[in-house]
Amino acid sequence: MAETVLVLNAGSSSIKFELFEIGPQDRLASLFAGQIEGIGVRPRLLARTRAGAVLAERTLPREEANDVEGAMAVVERFLDETLDAPPIAAGHRVVHGGPVFSAPVAIDEEVLATLETFVPLAPLHQPYNLALVRALRRSRPDLFQVACFDTAFHRGHPALADCFALPDWLWEEGVRRYGFHGLSYEYVAARLRELDPELAEKKVIVAHLGSGCSMCALRGGKSVESTMGFTALDGLPMGTRPGQLDPGVVLYLAAAKGMDPEAIQHFLYHDCGLKGLSGISNDLRVLLSSADPKAAFALEFFVYKIAQMTGWLAAALEGLDGFVFTAGIGENSPTIREAVAHRLRWLGMELDPHANAAHGPLVSTPASRVRVYVVPTDEELVIARHTLALLRRGGDRR
Ligand code: AMP
Repeated sequence: MAETVLVLNAGSSSIKFELFEIGPQDRLASLFAGQIEGIGVRPRLLARTRAGAVLAERTLPREEANDVEGAMAVVERFLDETLDAPPIAAGHRVVHGGPVFSAPVAIDEEVLATLETFVPLAPLHQPYNLALVRALRRSRPDLFQVACFDTAFHRGHPALADCFALPDWLWEEGVRRYGFHGLSYEYVAARLRELDPELAEKKVIVAHLGSGCSMCALRGGKSVESTMGFTALDGLPMGTRPGQLDPGVVLYLAAAKGMDPEAIQHFLYHDCGLKGLSGISNDLRVLLSSADPKAAFALEFFVYKIAQMTGWLAAALEGLDGFVFTAGIGENSPTIREAVAHRLRWLGMELDPHANAAHGPLVSTPASRVRVYVVPTDEELVIARHTLALLRRGGDRR
C-alpha cells in the first residue's frame, strides 16, 4: 500500500478523520473518512470510503472514548487494523492562527504554546483542536504534525477590513476581524481557477453555506473581505448562530436578563440562527419541507441576509463578476440558490433552472451579468496537501 497522510478535525464531542493515499507526483486520493461522535456520552465509530462503503460502524464503551485522548486511541487502533503502515504525517484543522500564522505550520512545543494563547479567541474550538494535537504527540512523538488554520486565508486583508472602530489597545490584544472557513475558500478559489481561469482572476464572492455560514470576497483568488469577524458568530445567520447582531442585544441579555458570559455564549452559539428564529429546526432540509409559516419566514430571512451581505462584499470589491455556492446548503439546495439569485436579479444575476437543478458546476444563464457556480468544497484535501508539502520541504516553519 502507498504511504498515507491523516487529516484530523476535533470538535467538542467528536473527532473527524480522513486518510489520503499519496500517489505519483504526490497526488492525493481519499481512501476513507470517518468520525467518532458522542465522545464522553455515547461514543460511536463510523468510517466509510468516499464511495460510501462502510468500513466500521460500532458503538463504543463510554470509558473507551471518554475524552479526546481516548477517542484518538480508538482512531489509531482502527488505522492500525486497516492500514499496512501508519500515516507518515498528520494535518490538523486548527480554527485560529491568531494574528501570527498566515500559513500552515509544522507543530512543535513553541508553536503549540503560541496556539494556546489563542484559546480565548475561539474557546469552543481551539481547546479541542489542541488537545488532539497533544494526544497524538504523546502516542506518536515522532509523527510529523501540521496545523492548518481557518483564519490563514484571510490574513492578507487590508487593515480597513480587519479593524473595528475601537481603541488601539484592543487591536494590539488581537481583537480584530479574522474571518473563518478559510480552508474551504482556499479550495474553492483553486477549483475555480481550474473551472474558469478568466473569472478566477476577477471579483468573486463565495458563499459557504453549511451548518456554519459565511461569505468571502475574492479578488484574483485572494481574500479581501469576509462576513465573519472576530469570532465565528458574525455575518450571516447560521443553523444555531445569529450572525450580525447589534452588541446592544448582548448588553440587554446581561443587564436586563441577568445572563452571565457563559450563558450568553451558549445562547449565541446554540439557540439562535435558523433554529431560534423558526423555533423548529437548525436543519435547512427540515425547514424547506415544513408547511409552518415560521419555517418560511426563517428561510426568507436567511436568503435576505445572503443578498444583503452580497451587496456589502460587492462594495468592498467595487464590483462583482462571479458568485460561487459551496458547503452543505450551497452545494445541495437548488431552492436556496434560486431564491438568492432572484433577490440579486438587480445585479443582473440569472440562473438556468436545469443547470441549477443538476448542481452545475455553472448554474447561470449565458446572459447573466454575474457568472454563478456550484463548487463542492473539500477542506480535508487542502489540509492533506499542505501537510504533505510541508513534510516534503523538511518541515520548515514559516
Ligand atoms: P455542512 O456543515 O457543510 O455539512 O452543511 C450541513 C447543512 O447542510 C445541514 O445542516 C443541512 O441544513 C444542509 N443540507 C445538507 N443537504 C442538504 C440538501 N439536500 N438540501 C438543503 N440543505 C442541505
